[in-house]
Amino acid sequence: MRMIPKHTPSLTAGDFIPYIGGVLNRKKHAALDIHRVWGELLPDRTLIPTPTGRHALWYFLEMLDSQPGDEVLVAAYNFYIIVRLVIQRGLKPVFVDIEPDTLCMDSDDLARKITDRSRLVIVTHMFGNPADMPRIQQTCEQHDLLLFEDCAHAVGSFCEGRQVGLFGDGALFSFGIQKAVNSFGGGILVLSNKLADNFSPPDHQVPWLSSTVDTFGRFLTSLLMKPGFYWTLRLILEMTERLNLSQLKAVFDPSRDNPDYRFEVNERSPFKPFMLEMHRRQLERIAVNNTTREHIVTTVKSGLADSEQVTFLNENKHGQSNFLYFGLYAEHPEKMSDHLKRYNIGSSPHEYYNCASLEQFAAYHAICGQAEYASRHLLRLPSYPMLKNSDVDFIITVLKSGLA
Ligand SMILES: *Cc1c(COP(=O)(O)O)cnc(C)c1O
Repeated sequence: MRMIPKHTPSLTAGDFIPYIGGVLNRKKHAALDIHRVWGELLPDRTLIPTPTGRHALWYFLEMLDSQPGDEVLVAAYNFYIIVRLVIQRGLKPVFVDIEPDTLCMDSDDLARKITDRSRLVIVTHMFGNPADMPRIQQTCEQHDLLLFEDCAHAVGSFCEGRQVGLFGDGALFSFGIQKAVNSFGGGILVLSNKLADNFSPPDHQVPWLSSTVDTFGRFLTSLLMKPGFYWTLRLILEMTERLNLSQLKAVFDPSRDNPDYRFEVNERSPFKPFMLEMHRRQLERIAVNNTTREHIVTTVKSGLADSEQVTFLNENKHGQSNFLYFGLYAEHPEKMSDHLKRYNIGSSPHEYYNCASLEQFAAYHAICGQAEYASRHLLRLPSYPMLKNSDVDFIITVLKSGLA
């Protein structure tokens, strides 16, 4: 029986080798330089390796000489962890609505939400779709605000021909399982050279065992997400669901709302040398993979063009998306997701939430109509480059039968 998971890491057998080599040879080995691997995509910036993407944001927030209550403007449709970090640093999140067709911060609403206390804007290039950086950048300059870009989804996404992450004072990249470049964890903090002068690398002490287990868990999950092993992953997923194993759940489904989450600097393995070797290999294929994903999205869109019950995004509105995640709007995304599941097609009816209306952020509640709509109606579908043409046709057929 054919199984089409929601996501499969774009890793070849060879991509796993740097990790295995790193485990076998824990002594020193000639480490690649981060600027040599990433400098072509991210020129003229200081690049700092971090344990995860969220660490990069945390280090950036630590660099601000902020006063408690200073305001940070964030898109309402967001990874709730980003908002948690802001609050944990003693800052006040102010929710900005999104553009329904890119899922990114709406620059008009941003302008409306700025006050005397505003310090920082965090823009997320949601699903890999570039946000309206020229206007957002201009607004930040006018009001003397710092700008930080969340590029967790956006390796190979461009705005005005430039890789996103080059517009802000800082940016984060993430190399978790569901990202465009996967090294079983790791992240990068991108800093303007001016800000980098003030940066001192934090001391990061993680016990060897938990650090090893952490990375190994993500290695194993990535391996099990490959199509041939996917049935084992399904079994594990159902087991974690049944036994309510919350830590495992967080590995498989990190964006699920968890009000008890607290960021711990030492909870994750530090950035390791094998990660850069994995990045180097995957960056060689990134442009091809992004084109393949765009082609898949275009094919599904034209296959469903006659269907009035679904509407699509405009991923390339502000540049070139990498199409990392594929979302469409449906009247009843849960029903669609259940229908797809009956045909062993993975999907997600709640990839992210409208944080402006989450219970855990009730103190910062705001009305954000478009974020609420996305939270209720957006369905994420598979779009990874390893999908075969016949898989894509099958997805279209099943979607159509669900809509009929
Ligand atoms: C994955 C992700 C991050 C960072 O995640 P880490 O797990 O900390 O590397 C940040 N923002 C978004 C939108 C993400 O999807």
